[in-house]
Amino acid sequence: MFLGHFGLGLAAKKAAPAVSLGALFAASQFADLLWPTLVLLGVEQVRVQPGITAVTPLDFVSYPYSHSLLMLCVWGVAFGAIYAALRRARPGAAITIALLVVSHWVLDVVVHRPDMPITPWGAERFGLGLWNSVPGTLVAEFGLLVFGVTLYLGTPRARTRAGTIGFWSLVAFLVIVYLASTFGPPPPSAAAVAWSAQAMWLLVAWGYWVDRSRRGVAEGKSRNWK
Ligand SMILES: [Zn+2]
Repeated sequence: MFLGHFGLGLAAKKAAPAVSLGALFAASQFADLLWPTLVLLGVEQVRVQPGITAVTPLDFVSYPYSHSLLMLCVWGVAFGAIYAALRRARPGAAITIALLVVSHWVLDVVVHRPDMPITPWGAERFGLGLWNSVPGTLVAEFGLLVFGVTLYLGTPRARTRAGTIGFWSLVAFLVIVYLASTFGPPPPSAAAVAWSAQAMWLLVAWGYWVDRSRRGVAEGKSRNWK
């Protein structure tokens, strides 16, 4: 799942308006930010196997540290606690961040084949396999994105041209990247998958930038955009 995680990150702005969109993206995509580095280090394994699902050619052989429910609970609590300590945030903000980290597991279970672990060491694997249906996957991905965009646009914000352009180009970029990876040719190797997945960091930075452009005006810093 790709767009759905960003959709929940956007939606969470409603629950925690003080938290930057960049931090919300980092939380909802924490598993997929950690995963490529662990793959490149050889700690976790992925294989390219075209046809394994109708949507993705990736066979997630093993990802106990980035994608088990238990570890995502641990990462979620750690991320929320560190965020609260560094930003002196309210408990609600830290709880939203922790829940977003764990939400990654729930959304991935819906689309993945039964390959999602509960604990790093356990043998059970879960997955409802929505990726076996292209229309079903598209409805879920775009439905969550639209849900997130709608809630995000409903939060109070300073309307600036920079903020509006930045936000909509981010949404357009997410959609283009998603469609290109879903309907494009399969990646040449697992390493290529992991390296291109590192681009996720760029989307976190983009989230921070979009959020800052709205705050700048709220604080009266960039009047020239009015
Ligand atoms: Zn994932």
